[in-house]
Order: sequence, then C-alpha cells, then structure tokens
Amino acid sequence: MEKLKSLENLTNELKKLPSVGTKSAERMAYSLLDWDAEEIKNLCDALTQVKKKIHKCPKCGMLTETELCEVCASPNRDTTKLMVVCYQKDAIAFENSDSFNGLYHVLGGVLSIQNGVSYEDLGIDSLLHRVQNEDIKEVILATEPTLDGETTAQFIARLLEKYDVSISRLGYGLPMGGHLDYADSLTLSKSFEGRTKIK
Ligand code: ZN
Repeated sequence: MEKLKSLENLTNELKKLPSVGTKSAERMAYSLLDWDAEEIKNLCDALTQVKKKIHKCPKCGMLTETELCEVCASPNRDTTKLMVVCYQKDAIAFENSDSFNGLYHVLGGVLSIQNGVSYEDLGIDSLLHRVQNEDIKEVILATEPTLDGETTAQFIARLLEKYDVSISRLGYGLPMGGHLDYADSLTLSKSFEGRTKIK
C-alpha cells in the first residue's frame, strides 16, 4: 500500500510529546486530517504564538508573557522571603494554596546523576546572584520530597552557608517520593508553616 509520507512525518512529530506512543500519535494524525483549513491554521498560529510570546522571567525563571513574571513584578510580595522550587508547577501549587507571599526561584529540575542533570543545568548561579544582590533574609528550600530533591536542597544549603540569610526546608507532611503539585493546598500550607530551619 502507498506510504503516506506527510502523515508519517506528522505522526513522528506528535510522538515527541510526553506520554504519546505510536498508536496515539497515529490516531491524532488521522483526526487532524479531518480538521478544516481554518482549524489547522488556528492550531499552527497557537503554536507559533506560544513559542514567540512565552519566555522565562529573567529574575526567577518562571514562564511568562510579560517582561517580568506576575510575582516578580508585584509590589505586594514579601521580597525578604525566597522559595526555591524545582519546577514552575510547584510554585503554582504554592500560589494556589495561598500560604506564601514571598518570591520564587525556579531551578528547572533537580540534580540527578541518573539523568545527567548537573549544577550547570539548573538556575543555581542566578539564585546565588539574587541572594547576594536582593533584600532576601530567608531562603526556603522547597525542592521535591525525593532523593534527588533532598540532594539538591542540601547542595544549595551548603552553597548558601556563607551568605547572611536564614535557610529552611519544607516540613513534611508531604509524602516522600511524591510531587509537590499533587499535594493539596492544606498539606502545602502546613509544610510551609512547619518548615525546619537549617541555618
Ligand atoms: Zn519572576
């Protein structure tokens, strides 16, 4: 049977998405064949716009469409508290829990030998730069409660020792091995309130 090369190309592109295997990608590709020209154009426009408009906040690493993200740009945040999270979704979970009114710093991952993630891959240098140059009095290490998350927190705590800031780690309540963004708001609030002082 004739090979539909363009359909195969589309399937291969869709397979790059997380949790999409060959079968799902094929189903999506055939479904897109049924879309009319305008719907396809809208999808293409949406993809282009997302790529064009969204960038990382130069201060905290959060994704934003404005120059600085909403949190960094707000005059109503407590700029003496800085919460360090692995991923943007963790900061969003804290925002939704209404338990924290300070600033965030998004590392973009966790240190992991297994996955080849090292110091240079994460926003650690920019974190140290902020601690040095901003009005920060407390750094809350809210890396995820996994082995790699713990390692990352300890690594950062050591780097921060020489600076004049107090350092705390989220208290748990949070299940070990779990993800922060799966925790409910009450658990997040409690973990923030019950944070333990490292320094
Ligand atoms: Zn920001």
